[in-house]
Amino acid sequence: MTPAVPDLSCRELVELVTDYLEASLPVDERTRFELHLTYCEFCRTYLAQMRQVLESAGELTEESLAPEARDALLATFRDWKKGSGGGS
Ligand SMILES: [Zn+2]
Repeated sequence: MTPAVPDLSCRELVELVTDYLEASLPVDERTRFELHLTYCEFCRTYLAQMRQVLESAGELTEESLAPEARDALLATFRDWKKGSGGGS
């Protein structure tokens, strides 16, 4: 069975995670988001961390996550992709 929608990248997921946790993601985006989580351990960890931030803060904004933490995470994704080969 082939998915009807293109796969989500880790970077897209990071950008969508606040909407996902606030349940404001459109259903098709949400499906892609959850599909990505089924095979991406990094994003599962990221989602768990963001959920904790949301629960402790009661509110989630881009600013809730320190810029350094976000940069470090995105750098991890880049290195990881590099390691798996392919891409541009
Ligand atoms: Zn991912």
